[in-house]
Amino acid sequence: MPQEHLKTLIFILLPPVMLAVGMGAAIQGAWLPELPQGLVEILPWLMGMLAGVLAFVYGRTRTLICVILVLVVYLSSMFQIRPMAMAPGTDLLPALGYALMTLLVPLVFMINAIWSERYHLMMDLLIRLAVFGTLPGMAVLFATQFPEGMADLLLTTHLPALHWDGYGMPQLSFWSLILCLAGMGFFLVKHPSPQWAGQWITLAGIGWILPQLFHAYAMPLYTATLLLILAIAVVHESFQMAFRDDLTGLPGRRALNERLQRLGRHYAIAMTDVDHFKKFNDTHGHDLGDQVLRVVAAQLRKVSGGGKAYRYGGEEFTIVFPGKTAEECVIHLEAVREAIESYEIAIRDGNTRPDNKREGRARRGQGRDKTVSVTISMGVAERSLERPDPESVIKAADQALYAAKEAGRNQVRVAE
Ligand code: GH3
Ligand code: MG
Ligand code: MG
Repeated sequence: MPQEHLKTLIFILLPPVMLAVGMGAAIQGAWLPELPQGLVEILPWLMGMLAGVLAFVYGRTRTLICVILVLVVYLSSMFQIRPMAMAPGTDLLPALGYALMTLLVPLVFMINAIWSERYHLMMDLLIRLAVFGTLPGMAVLFATQFPEGMADLLLTTHLPALHWDGYGMPQLSFWSLILCLAGMGFFLVKHPSPQWAGQWITLAGIGWILPQLFHAYAMPLYTATLLLILAIAVVHESFQMAFRDDLTGLPGRRALNERLQRLGRHYAIAMTDVDHFKKFNDTHGHDLGDQVLRVVAAQLRKVSGGGKAYRYGGEEFTIVFPGKTAEECVIHLEAVREAIESYEIAIRDGNTRPDNKREGRARRGQGRDKTVSVTISMGVAERSLERPDPESVIKAADQALYAAKEAGRNQVRVAE
């Protein structure tokens, strides 16, 4: 896994994991102070409202469904489904209800997470509610019609070798939870996003509370924690959407403007522009152009010397070096320029790919795939008495960039 990817994953997972584990430990260790019962009971609903309204306003239907699911689980804990289910000698239906809930909640969580938000907000929400309402509805219908058969299916330990008694959940429910966590974990690692992380942690948290009988205030407090995690995920996701460029993953113009306001008195700024990029797009197509921008961004991100890269716009990037002079930056910029110059991008776009499979197979045998590469030009300037603010430093860096272009491109120029 690339280091950047791992960093993103940790950055995204850290807040919800700390909240979930910290609160879990506090509950398990009974470190919580005694709070008024009324306040405790209202917390899940307050947090549910907060997370639900945020999810709705920002159009995160999936998170909204998660909020509803968490509240459903909480409600069922209030109705004491589980104690009824576990008390010997009681009838079958509460036990079936508990088995069904523990089986279906993880499944609905996973289907909801994988199912991408495609329609208009309200439409999407209604379709989800219809599907996720029908599923348990049918199951309950079956359970009331054929309780014996369903009990046989849901409550029996079918494979004793794969059963962990200490967890105290029917086997089918246990494995449904494990498989759904694994499936969602796979997607989370592949496409780390705050929303995925929030949903994954919430399901893990639900898996933790489902089989346990909590103290009257631990259950609402933990439910409120999970809902808070979902609310934070919505805010975090929206923050990322505003400050991060979607194509390259670099921070965007807005993030750059924020950074420029907090630079202090010693810094240098480099402006970067891809050479002859219009021609590249015309020759190879816009899609390959986008792929090139991703490659360029990935190299710029790795710049040494404490520099931080931003996508300024189009095929232009900005690197900010706090505490450096322009001359000191040159060696770091040269390293990036060379890395990009020597980076070969394999062509995989539709234009050059053969139309049918047989032709493709024949061509593959014949030798190497075609590769392309691009170069970049850079101009760098530092803050000085004549250029006291970031805007004028950027302007000077832009002029140096223009000089680099004039002088034949693929080079770094320092502003006079
Ligand atoms: P020069 O060496 O002088 O910079 O030549 P150039 O062709 O690169 O000129 P310029 O910088 O003006 O070209 C900008 C081009 O970058 C125009 C546009 O086609 C392309 N471009 C801008 N943003 C994107 C993008 O997001 N994706 C792709 N594929 N192309 C983009
Ligand atoms: Mg340009
Ligand atoms: Mg250009």
